Amino acid sequence: MKRIGLLGGMSWESTIHYYRIINESVRSRLGGLHSAECVLYSVEFSPIVDLMKSGQWSQVASKLSEAAVSLKHAGAEFLVICTNTMHKVADRISDLSSLEVLHIGDSTAAKISERGINRVALLGTTHTMEGEYYREPFRRMGIELLVPGNTTRAIMDRIIFDELCRGEILRESKQILLDLIEEMKKDGAQGAVLGCTELPNIIRQEDVSIPVFDTTRIHAEAAVVYAME
Ligand code: GLU
Repeated sequence: MKRIGLLGGMSWESTIHYYRIINESVRSRLGGLHSAECVLYSVEFSPIVDLMKSGQWSQVASKLSEAAVSLKHAGAEFLVICTNTMHKVADRISDLSSLEVLHIGDSTAAKISERGINRVALLGTTHTMEGEYYREPFRRMGIELLVPGNTTRAIMDRIIFDELCRGEILRESKQILLDLIEEMKKDGAQGAVLGCTELPNIIRQEDVSIPVFDTTRIHAEAAVVYAME
């Protein structure tokens, strides 16, 4: 089994689920007392958010690369960046740490494709919903991403950074997200990508009438498959 390097803490409200899902997945495959070989570097998130909000992406990349290098020194054999947004600098992190990155977009696009779906709503941070870095893996699999308009994108950022990343789950925000998914379903979305690793903390499959793609679970399970190849 390869040793998984988890670059987490963005926020820890979702990283905590990666650890659990990865270990549950190894146990369900191997049984008994089997568990994952993994190392976690959990960053201090606040300064990273400040850099991101002021557009200092090269600084974000170098901070995260330093963490990735530590993971490499701790024996990580590949990298799982436990956030969709930070995949914006995934190539840089991979170059600077010489660790291969298991891209969350690739894992999610593959899952959607398995379901025979090719048009999905994407919910996430503004960067994820607008960024080319995120669209590319979906485009390669022939999957169209529908994103909400500007005003809604700003609301999404507020819900993610001011609530979910702080551990606050509010009923009003949940309703906003569910209404948005229903609206996007009317626009032709056959599924909804929870393209922010904290979104599964507020939206569940049973709340929604179309298939929901939980990027946290998909990415964590893909890491186990890759580690065991
Ligand atoms: N965890 C979130 C994501 O999946 C947002 C926090 C961040 O900016 O990394 O995009």
